[in-house]
Amino acid sequence: MAEVDVGKPLPAITSEAKPFWEAAAQNKLVMQRCRDCQAYVWTPRPACYECGSERLEWQELSGKGQVYSFTVIRQVVGRAASMAFEKEIPYVIAWIDLDEGPRMISNVVGCPVEDVKLGMTVSVVFEQQSPEVWLPKFKPLVS
Ligand SMILES: [Zn+2]
Repeated sequence: MAEVDVGKPLPAITSEAKPFWEAAAQNKLVMQRCRDCQAYVWTPRPACYECGSERLEWQELSGKGQVYSFTVIRQVVGRAASMAFEKEIPYVIAWIDLDEGPRMISNVVGCPVEDVKLGMTVSVVFEQQSPEVWLPKFKPLVS
């Protein structure tokens, strides 16, 4: 396998989050869901934060959602300036409301930053960052 080095700090693959990263490497977005109260649990953890149940199971999501809020990063400072973030400005950090209900933070990619709008419909894409880490990001969904 070719060496992948994106020049950025990467998420640690903890035991709780391992199933998430394994699915992401297969371009599938999964999330824990509580078998007792049906709440989605994000980020991965040993117990439901709504009811405390440890009866969590992994479910595959549609990967579709809408932009709830976002910001455009036009300048990076400090330690980040020496990393690969600078090459990517301007870029978008957004809250994505997934169709199933949970909200996750990610990037909107695949369009000019000026085209990103509140309520915009988006779909997940996975960008490989290392042999193990594929980050879920979101691109405009053209219907
Ligand atoms: Zn619960």
